Amino acid sequence: MSGTAKKRVFVTREIPSDALKLLKSKFEVEVWPEETPPPKNILIEKVKVVDGLCCLLTDKIDAEVINAAGEQLKGISQIAVGYDNIDLEAATKRGIYVTNTPGVLTDTTADYAFALLMATARRIAEADRYVRDGRWKIPWGLMMMLGQDVWGKTIGIIGMGRIGTAMARRAKGFNMKILYYDVARNEAAEKELGAEYVDLETLLKESDFVSIHVPLLPSTRHLINEERLKLMKKTACLINTSRGPVVDEKALYKALKEGWIWAAGLDVWEKEPTDPDNPLLKLDNVTASPHIASASYETRTRMAIMAAENMIAILEGRVPPNLVNKEVLKVRPPEK
Ligand code: NAD
Repeated sequence: MSGTAKKRVFVTREIPSDALKLLKSKFEVEVWPEETPPPKNILIEKVKVVDGLCCLLTDKIDAEVINAAGEQLKGISQIAVGYDNIDLEAATKRGIYVTNTPGVLTDTTADYAFALLMATARRIAEADRYVRDGRWKIPWGLMMMLGQDVWGKTIGIIGMGRIGTAMARRAKGFNMKILYYDVARNEAAEKELGAEYVDLETLLKESDFVSIHVPLLPSTRHLINEERLKLMKKTACLINTSRGPVVDEKALYKALKEGWIWAAGLDVWEKEPTDPDNPLLKLDNVTASPHIASASYETRTRMAIMAAENMIAILEGRVPPNLVNKEVLKVRPPEK
């Protein structure tokens, strides 16, 4: 009779109700009620008893948490496309399936990346502060708050994957020349968008806007460092909606303060939440946001439903649609 007992899933934050309903239709579900991530001791306590863990990128699922899991833990379903917070190797060794939510957030994230690019180029956040602070004294100034044109300029995309390609589509609508750098050629994007594959040095030297869309990996940590920032144009804008540690913030501060580049738009930070006294926030040529590139009502629901579907597949013994650690199939083959 024990086979009829419902499997248990721990969800580390409130999720959209449609996704929760879906999970509850199959499993006994417990949701962490706080807005902040459950502390490590709670994660450890839960993975000892639950069959599935549904988590966010701010939950650190490291080897200590994974190795504390009981034999019954079969899956970790992340509600995000990036999964640098999860120790994949440790999960694979334990036969735990790890899934993510690719694709459903691509266009929403690219919309935001392009909005951040526009806001940075045309000083929108700074202009908003200017008006609210009562600093607007002359009715119209020929030389007031001048920005950079976007249309017709050159954009350099670092990481021409799903979101990078969607960003390039938006840039094409603004008649921009598109350069890209990636570890792999993307011939489909070259054909569709006329994107030109170049090395990173050329991209940095020739682009008016550099937009980052790589995952955080050992090879991409501080990919944008002092030496590379020095290659960029003095009038260039750097846009980062990927992961904070891809950019060396100390070097970026120097670059912005000393005018090696013109401005930066940052949705992601080396440490999140970033410190309110992060020196970057004292600079008017930084447009800042709190990691919200995928934050639309529709997309967050799509992401959570996809994560629920991944979890259902795992706990029903199938290969989930968005399995990240494919090698796990050798360690623990699917039942179906
Ligand atoms: P993707 O896998 O489709 O694309 C990533 C691209 O980066 C691939 O083409 C890959 O070949 C390339 N790449 C990998 N390592 C590289 C390297 N060392 N140098 C150059 N290129 C490299 O992923 P995606 O769906 O486009 O998402 C990209 C990233 O965006 C995610 O990993 C995530 O970290 C981030 N993201 C952030 C937000 C946000 O809210 N700010 C939202 C969604 C995704």
